[in-house]
Amino acid sequence: MLNIDLHCHSNVSDGVLPPADVVARAAANGVHVLALTDHDDVSGLTTARAAAAEMQMTLIPGVEISVSWGAQTVHIVGLRIDPLNPELAEGLLAIRRGRIERARRMSDDLTRHGIVGAYDGAYAVAVNKQMVGRTHFARWLVAQGHAPDLRSAFRRFLTRGNPGYVDHEWASLENAVRWIRASGGMAVIAHPGRYAFTARELHLLLDAFRALGGEGIEVITGSHHPSEYGKFADLARAFGLKASRGADFHAPGEGVDIGRLPALPHYCKPVWQGWPELEQSLSLSLA
Ligand code: AMP
Ligand code: MN
Ligand code: MN
Ligand code: MN
Repeated sequence: MLNIDLHCHSNVSDGVLPPADVVARAAANGVHVLALTDHDDVSGLTTARAAAAEMQMTLIPGVEISVSWGAQTVHIVGLRIDPLNPELAEGLLAIRRGRIERARRMSDDLTRHGIVGAYDGAYAVAVNKQMVGRTHFARWLVAQGHAPDLRSAFRRFLTRGNPGYVDHEWASLENAVRWIRASGGMAVIAHPGRYAFTARELHLLLDAFRALGGEGIEVITGSHHPSEYGKFADLARAFGLKASRGADFHAPGEGVDIGRLPALPHYCKPVWQGWPELEQSLSLSLA
């Protein structure tokens, strides 16, 4: 059985390990096929691919795109994308520019609540100065003693109704799916259990996503409680979507580690069905 993990982050976005170290960690954890899916940026894929080749591991080029849908933020994972595709690259660049402007507003809001220097602080934490996000703010808030750990930083700050949270307009669902498909990739809805949608809203999202050419949803993810796996496996089947599996790893000691997740329920149609990379990986793992 191949260990396939299709969602993780490096320090190109809000993870802490460099791309090559993420790949090495995955290999050490027994992962055969890994997708690196940094938020709104694909610049880690070149080194990740080289590292994977050295370790006889298969790397799937990926990305996690921030989208606004129905007044909420939804994440769309792109798998088997072409990082050099100009349409995708331009779309991601526009999102990253928006992040810089959002970071200013987040910092201004924190200042109003008596916390100064967050913009510079978050930028000092971010390794990729093009990709700044709430996690960088959260890590800075923890380092400054404003919160004991990352979870509390997100509970006290940076979330709706709390200091440091600002509304932001991300990419449209239509554009995100179009960029992924234009680059030859497959669009997958990330961690559907994490959104505060009603059942009806979630069904509307899945319908809209399918109509746009989206193909999968994450069923087994570090963001789902094991009691939710069945629900999302059933939804995948009901809406004709394939199922994905990924830890959403960000840092050692935070959440689920790469490759350390249960297998997909047997009745799911996996997103990787028919991928030529699987053949290669299977022959490597048997060699
Ligand atoms: P952003 O895209 O900049 O809004 O940041 C979103 C990221 O923040 C997610 O991908 C997670 O890595 C992180 N995040 C969001 N909520 C939480 C939370 N409650 N606890 C820990 N990390 C969180
Ligand atoms: Mn993240
Ligand atoms: Mn996400
Ligand atoms: Mn993620």
